[in-house]
Amino acid sequence: MNSVVDPGEDTALAPDWDWQELEEEALDLLKRMLRVDTTNPPGNEALIIDEILEPLLRREGLEPVVLRKKEGRSNLVVRLSGDGSEAPLLLHGHVDVVAADPARWSHPPFDAVEAEGCIWGRGAIDMKQTVAMQITTLLALHRARVPLSRDLIVAVFADEEMGSALGSIWLAETHPELLRAEYALGEAGAYSVHFGGKRFYPIMVAEKGFVWLELTARGEPGHGSMPSRDNAVLRLARAADALGRRPLRFEATPPMKAFVGALADGLGGPKGAIVRSLLKPIPFRALGRALFPDARTADAFSAMLHDTAAPTMLGAGIKVNQIPSEASAHIDCRTLPGQTTQGLIDLVRRRVGSDIEIEVVAEGAPVHIDGSDPLLDAMKGAIASLDPGGIAVTNLISGFTDAKPLAALGARTYGFSPLVLPEGISFAAMFHGDDERIPVGGFRKGLRVFLELVREFCGE
Ligand SMILES: [Zn+2]
Repeated sequence: MNSVVDPGEDTALAPDWDWQELEEEALDLLKRMLRVDTTNPPGNEALIIDEILEPLLRREGLEPVVLRKKEGRSNLVVRLSGDGSEAPLLLHGHVDVVAADPARWSHPPFDAVEAEGCIWGRGAIDMKQTVAMQITTLLALHRARVPLSRDLIVAVFADEEMGSALGSIWLAETHPELLRAEYALGEAGAYSVHFGGKRFYPIMVAEKGFVWLELTARGEPGHGSMPSRDNAVLRLARAADALGRRPLRFEATPPMKAFVGALADGLGGPKGAIVRSLLKPIPFRALGRALFPDARTADAFSAMLHDTAAPTMLGAGIKVNQIPSEASAHIDCRTLPGQTTQGLIDLVRRRVGSDIEIEVVAEGAPVHIDGSDPLLDAMKGAIASLDPGGIAVTNLISGFTDAKPLAALGARTYGFSPLVLPEGISFAAMFHGDDERIPVGGFRKGLRVFLELVREFCGE
């Protein structure tokens, strides 16, 4: 050992990152991915996986595995090996996006235009920015040869926006060994939400389940000129209306108690007390609409506190003058943590009555990561360094992500993709919305805390 300068443990573990260079690299990767149209369907994720990410990782001496169930629908997994003293951390994302109508956008959705301090493009928030952050993090740790106590895995999936059948669900079924991890970090977490004059950063710890149903009503067929009450279309319409009138069931689940409680504490005073009362069904119905800035936010909160059913597709008849014998509807039902598929069907049955057939088309269980752990603590610390005035909270999302199959493999799954958003830019509005864009400054900050979090959590 050199007797004058002892480099010490910390110096060896904490390389002096060239932040400017890493940030430019991540931004460049993000723009390249945004310029590829991966609207799903048809997806075409191979245009990013096979043509951008795989060659990039190989050039750096890594060995990515690319797997597909269907031509053009590639998934990629790459691993940095640790010494095995702890179990792996998995970072995951998807590179498919939902459709964008260019006529409704201020800038073309697949050009990655930089304007007004933002990069504009479909996927800038959901979720090519997270993939760029995850890949850049892995590359930085690899290049600096940071010794790791656990494997760091990055998985980039296809097909999330259509339910993941060609992506995470298929890969978890066919190659679970590639994805098995103690912890998994994905989308939908750690972005700024402005509420009541404060900035909150929700870390996603729970997501609702889904039960997709097909309802069928039957009746006496006949001529349209001689209507009777025994009409499948009417019967189905009554069932759909009964489901749509109000949510199926209220419950303040543990993740919502934690989330609303933290919001109330953060706001304090009478405002905090009103927010806390939302955990009871009657105040929620009375106050919900008045409390939130817009109907969309009120609906989002309502979805987090109820089992819900939304009729989304209808089918009946082939001729205007012929009463059909059958009518059907697809219903998108979402379940709170703790609710089962059978429990949900019972609720639907009570609403629609006994003469409607109910068939389950697809289902996915809710996810809830309970309690605390070192990674959750580290994420809260990361948010404090991202935005010292921000408040970290845990939350539940009403949608679903690739976390479902990964949680089923045993991982503690979180949504964590740190991003500072100014008050005028709403994460919820941009998610699948028009003019999706990411503030460059917020992305740079997010990358720094993300890389530091992963280095500290995986480093020896
Ligand atoms: Zn997404």
